[in-house]
Amino acid sequence: MSLLDEFVAHPKVEAHNHLNLGMFYKSYAPWAGFYIPDFPQEHYDGLNGMHEYIGQYTRPRATTGQDAKDLFTLSIEDAIRDGITVLEGSCDLQFVGHCGGIDQFVEMVAGLRDKYADKIDFRPELGIGKLFPADKVQAWAPGCLESGLFKSMDLYGPEVFEGLETFKPIFDEAGKLGIKKKAHIGEFSNAETVRQFVEYFELDEVQHGLGACQDDKVLKMLVDKKIRCNVTPASNVSLGAAKSLKEHPMRKMWDAGCRLTICTDDLLFFNRSVSEQCVDMVDCGLFTKEELFAILDSEIDK
Ligand SMILES: [Zn+2]
Repeated sequence: MSLLDEFVAHPKVEAHNHLNLGMFYKSYAPWAGFYIPDFPQEHYDGLNGMHEYIGQYTRPRATTGQDAKDLFTLSIEDAIRDGITVLEGSCDLQFVGHCGGIDQFVEMVAGLRDKYADKIDFRPELGIGKLFPADKVQAWAPGCLESGLFKSMDLYGPEVFEGLETFKPIFDEAGKLGIKKKAHIGEFSNAETVRQFVEYFELDEVQHGLGACQDDKVLKMLVDKKIRCNVTPASNVSLGAAKSLKEHPMRKMWDAGCRLTICTDDLLFFNRSVSEQCVDMVDCGLFTKEELFAILDSEIDK
């Protein structure tokens, strides 16, 4: 059995996967009906470079509820092929609009969860962009959370402390409903920003969290609070958040006792499944095969 096959066969939790961009390009292009020139790239010009592709190609291609359903389906099927057993897949709030309402959105996502229930434990996550119009966030997010479908929520966008008040009541509501609270932080931002977000929103998990490595006190806070970081190594290298895979801060996080999962972020852009990234990390010497199995095993059944 090849090393890749061993990792594919191993049970894995993926907890950082944006389902509208979570499939391989080879799965996306036949559905989209077009090719994207020189894509996927090995390196993007940071998040702005990535957003140029989103603005020009992927966002205009997704306009209906059926489009959202098709994209989520492609991502779930690629996760199944990679042997992901638990998928905390992020369903962006914008698709409430595409689907024609909260009920239709919830029904679509629940349908996919049920359709693939014998192949993967898909736990829908509500994803909210910080720059999404505030009136729509207020109108849609509470109803989505109250539906009972979503097991976690995640906030993403510019990693700055300004403008977070809008989202505080939504996080508080999620906490009351027993929904896990996550936010994207510490991808490009520093340890202090990680600390502020964790404390302000009382986060259960952090998407990225690399910035915590700049300050041992903040890293220790994550360890002490048992806050899991859902790390995306290929994405980090591709966007320049980590210098190289060999120098990825995941090594420091794991050695410090931080809870970790290895995730794809946006497979369409970064082109490496969880299993492929595990092989890459063995190849570059960041972790041994046994350490990676230990990392994968550490979050199963949690
Ligand atoms: Zn992400």
